[in-house]
Amino acid sequence: MNSTELEGIIRTILTEKLASETGKVSNSEAPKSIAIFDDVDSAIKAANDAYRRYHELPLKCRSAIIATLRAELEADIPYLAEEAVKETGMGNVGHKILKNKLALEKTPGIEDLKTTALTGDDGMVLFEYSPFGVIGSITPSTNPTETIINNSISMLAAGNAIYFSPHPGAKNLSIWLIKRIENLIYKTCGVHNLVVTVATPSFENTQLMMQHPDIAVLAITGGPAIVTMGLKSGKKTIGAGAGNPPCLVDETAEITKAAQDIVSGASLDNNIPCIAEKAVVVVNQVADELITQMVDYGALLIRSSEDVKALKAACIIDGGINKKLIGKSTTTILEAAGLPVPLKEPKLIIVETAKDDPLVVHEQLMPVLPIVRAKDFEEALAISLKVENGLHHTAVMHSQNVSRLNKVAQLMQTSIFVKNGPSYAGIGFGAEGFNTFTIATPTGEGTTSARTFCRLRRCTLTNGFSIR
Ligand code: NAD
Repeated sequence: MNSTELEGIIRTILTEKLASETGKVSNSEAPKSIAIFDDVDSAIKAANDAYRRYHELPLKCRSAIIATLRAELEADIPYLAEEAVKETGMGNVGHKILKNKLALEKTPGIEDLKTTALTGDDGMVLFEYSPFGVIGSITPSTNPTETIINNSISMLAAGNAIYFSPHPGAKNLSIWLIKRIENLIYKTCGVHNLVVTVATPSFENTQLMMQHPDIAVLAITGGPAIVTMGLKSGKKTIGAGAGNPPCLVDETAEITKAAQDIVSGASLDNNIPCIAEKAVVVVNQVADELITQMVDYGALLIRSSEDVKALKAACIIDGGINKKLIGKSTTTILEAAGLPVPLKEPKLIIVETAKDDPLVVHEQLMPVLPIVRAKDFEEALAISLKVENGLHHTAVMHSQNVSRLNKVAQLMQTSIFVKNGPSYAGIGFGAEGFNTFTIATPTGEGTTSARTFCRLRRCTLTNGFSIR
């Protein structure tokens, strides 16, 4: 018997045991619709019923669900990556495989819900994390399946049910994945509809969901318009909004490593991750060396003023970003600009710009990285703060000067600050720390995990229980 067969047997035994322990779940109670509903109201009602049943199950049921998702979804990852690129027209299959694997393996489960206790002469107080109910989770087109996997693990570990509002531009694959996750949950714990959505995800349906009385909390992963809409809804909103991560390089940095890290971070999935480096601000003294090393590591430098003009004409429209090129490959962007395409596809296109260039001040979400020179560290810091623009998202810095690193981290006030690494180190890729694809920026929860999606409750016992 191999390990997969053994796992299957253990899961079946566990499911039957959980069902018999609670006496509340059985196949005969299957609802009429499962996972995908015709209308928002029916979907949320079904999720609310599922939440009530889930709340009565033991914690080990939540762990079993997460173990099942980790074990079973792994084989689907290449499909998810290929279909996401096909449906959204954005990103890179190989990188999407890595991102989905990261979400599946490094999103924390119920171990994230740490109970704390205070005890003393007057008794004991417990602080525990409890679920909210049904969470309305709005997911982006840029990390469609990564966000559904990541939020499913976090929110289910916290004991919630989830109504997903996938981006209409990724709806077919999102619906496929939600159905798949629902089925795996049901097989593990016998409860249907812990994750649901509608057959026609649309902006209108997202707005209906935001107003629904049975949605306890909104978790919005997307651009500024939708996060603002959530904040105006009157509901508690965990807002994971846009970023524009600057990458500051000073004259003390290890330039070869900095160059390699920047090319790797800014080219990930064609630069669509919100955490990816969006502009480099480099102290003049090391700028030439940094650019040379970036080119050595596979970046293409657009140099002549004519070529720079052509590149910008393709990438920028009316002072904003050309949405048609978001998430496209370097080859597609060079072709759109009418520039020659090298035989070996460049990892990244780099171009020197002024500090107020549209490519610098806007979140471009494409593998075209502007580089701005600064006369010294202080000027580089001032420019970097303007690039981040108070979004509280992500900033990266390459330096060996600890007090400067400390100063920038303090002034930036970003949810993620990466020192001497690629931006994706900040979401646990090749680095310490757990993963998330929902980084709550304007609302301040930062890198979300199960405990973010909980109420913190206090439970007091008087005249006991202190055994010190
Ligand atoms: P988007 O804002 O276009 O869409 C996000 C979600 O909002 C989708 O589900 C979409 O259907 C919905 N939406 C957008 N406008 C709406 C409207 N008017 N009415 C109802 N629903 C609406 O974002 P996107 O292009 O899919 O994703 C890219 C953006 O998201 C970038 O700005 C990126 O920085 C940000 N993002 C942030 C995080 C984070 O964790 N902070 C993660 C991923 C993406």
